[in-house]
Amino acid sequence: MDLELITIGDELLLGFTVDTNAVHIARTLADRGVRITRRATVGDTPADIVDAVRTALDRTGAVLTTGGLGPTADDRTHESLALAFDRELVLNETARDVLAERWLQRFGRPMPDSNVRQFLLPKGADVLTNRHGSAPGIWLEDSAGRFVATMPGVPREMRGMLLEEIVPRLQARAGATATTVVRSRTLRTTGISESACADRLAELCGAVHDVPLSYLPGLDGVDLRLTVNGVPAADADATLERAAHTVRERVGDWIYGEGDDDLAAIVLDALRAHGHTIAVAESCTGGLLGGRLTAISGSSSQVLGGIIAYDNRIKVEQLGVPESLLAEHGAVSEPVALAMASGVRERFGADVGVGITGIAGPGGGSDAKPVGTVWVAVDVSGVVHAVKPVLPGDRGEIRHRATQIALDRLRRVYASTSSVPGWTVGGA
Ligand code: AMP
Ligand code: MG
Repeated sequence: MDLELITIGDELLLGFTVDTNAVHIARTLADRGVRITRRATVGDTPADIVDAVRTALDRTGAVLTTGGLGPTADDRTHESLALAFDRELVLNETARDVLAERWLQRFGRPMPDSNVRQFLLPKGADVLTNRHGSAPGIWLEDSAGRFVATMPGVPREMRGMLLEEIVPRLQARAGATATTVVRSRTLRTTGISESACADRLAELCGAVHDVPLSYLPGLDGVDLRLTVNGVPAADADATLERAAHTVRERVGDWIYGEGDDDLAAIVLDALRAHGHTIAVAESCTGGLLGGRLTAISGSSSQVLGGIIAYDNRIKVEQLGVPESLLAEHGAVSEPVALAMASGVRERFGADVGVGITGIAGPGGGSDAKPVGTVWVAVDVSGVVHAVKPVLPGDRGEIRHRATQIALDRLRRVYASTSSVPGWTVGGA
């Protein structure tokens, strides 16, 4: 089943509110075989709402909206739908009385008059109950069976109404065709570029066993998303599994996880499996790596702690980095990164030490060490490695990418993989 989504609100157009509702609705419905074929955003202006709804109805005949249902004068979705369907606005007294009763019970005082406005609904509309807030939604159908369903903008209220009121109606309507689904599986890579990934998958021509493949580059790496669309629910997982297997074969150990997997959690699992502890010494990342590791619940059994060694004096005093190394090679150098990793490992009594030092910019770069130059060193039980990526992006992106590289080095050490590009072994 196909439908169009219209998200309504001046705040969405102005960019003050991120349209998370559209994302949530698309994901929720895709898994139930309902495809959003087009999405529009309009402000709280009746003429624009009417225009968007009419166009979508003419095209697809099935429309969902969110936003503009509140009690205040800036919420104008239902009056706009009355215009679009050429219906009167009538007060739904039953729904109003239910809320008035709930209000009295809950707050011990009468419902404010302004709330009544929410129950002025286009004639002939079915009320969609809002169990998580006050504004009801509606399901409005014309004589040709085309429909618009409205939901509140408040994400929590929208999510409840979507599952409790909209999904069952859509499923009833779609009948037998509802047995097909849209389902995705995402394989997460890091350390390999989008084009290098594409080269490995080139002869598959954008589809693996007829499953379309998307490349989604982000700060953590390139996600490879396989999506089946309109296949029977019973076949979806097996088809995705076959495609994922092929992608794994081609892309190999650049893949570190699936779905929402965080590399920090994967590294912690590896440390746990070996009974290892970790300590981190961070200069340019300023604690971000420690932050990512400790964001994972249960990390305390592996993570001993860390030092934000931003100033050279701290590198010397807290980590034992020899002053001579700093003087000779500079703070952003392989020997200093290695000395940080080994220093923090020894001083904390950890199995693993990580040292990160780099130039996150925007200032501080030079021809020899441009912005984005980062040395990442790891010391695993006395075996040391360092790598020097030159990372793209702004300050925040460079810092995040540096943590991802440090984690990937550790992942590869524990996976005992041999293909570690740019990996130098040994001391200074
Ligand atoms: P409304 O139902 O239009 O009164 O919306 C109430 C609140 O919900 C707004 O102030 C926004 O913070 C939030 N909201 C509205 N539309 C969206 C949307 N599409 N995505 C995320 N939040 C939204
Ligand atoms: Mg609004």
